[in-house]
Amino acid sequence: MKLINPSTKEHLHVGKVLCIGRNYARHAAEMGSSVPKSPVVFLKPSTAIVRTQGTVVLPTMSSDVHHEVELVVVIGPGGRNIRESEALDHVMAYAVGLDMTARDLQSEAKKKGKPWSIAKGFDTFAPLGPLVPAHKVADPHALTLSVKVNGIVRQHGHTGDMIFTVARLISYCSRVFTLEPGDLLYTGTPEGVGPVMSGDHLEADCTGLPSLTVTVV
Ligand code: MG
Repeated sequence: MKLINPSTKEHLHVGKVLCIGRNYARHAAEMGSSVPKSPVVFLKPSTAIVRTQGTVVLPTMSSDVHHEVELVVVIGPGGRNIRESEALDHVMAYAVGLDMTARDLQSEAKKKGKPWSIAKGFDTFAPLGPLVPAHKVADPHALTLSVKVNGIVRQHGHTGDMIFTVARLISYCSRVFTLEPGDLLYTGTPEGVGPVMSGDHLEADCTGLPSLTVTVV
């Protein structure tokens, strides 16, 4: 899977797909989860990525796949142990994304203390919208996020409600994983997650970013 740097038009490979769970208090509450004291990090394989106007394929192993609309950060300059004060200098671009989640498999995994990799990692479970250069987004915490299913708004939130800021997430993740150009960071979803069905048309929006549309089959 390749990305194009929207500023330089240079091609780069997608690296790690880092994702943050429970980064909005009201979403944590709707999942019956507590608000975390440090970021909840998990990974998706790059094979989960599908671009706009693509297709999300419902896996036969799940009967309850949910949409989670999220602001996605694309890493440009890599690094490790990045200071929070310098973290936004490592952002190459932003996009809107969907963290598709097999909720039934995730609930079972949570109960058994197992990882979420399968619930989160199926092919096509990481739709990614068009990239916008970072300098065009003045404040990543002043954006409205929403998702429409068949034209009806199902999820609506604001990036100002993130528990851990983009800078904090980059800094935190860089203490564990060396960040590299082309790494993605899905920053968590606001409340209002819900199921999708075959035939559904999803449109994810974030202020100032091009829409992401996918069809579910
Ligand atoms: Mg999520």
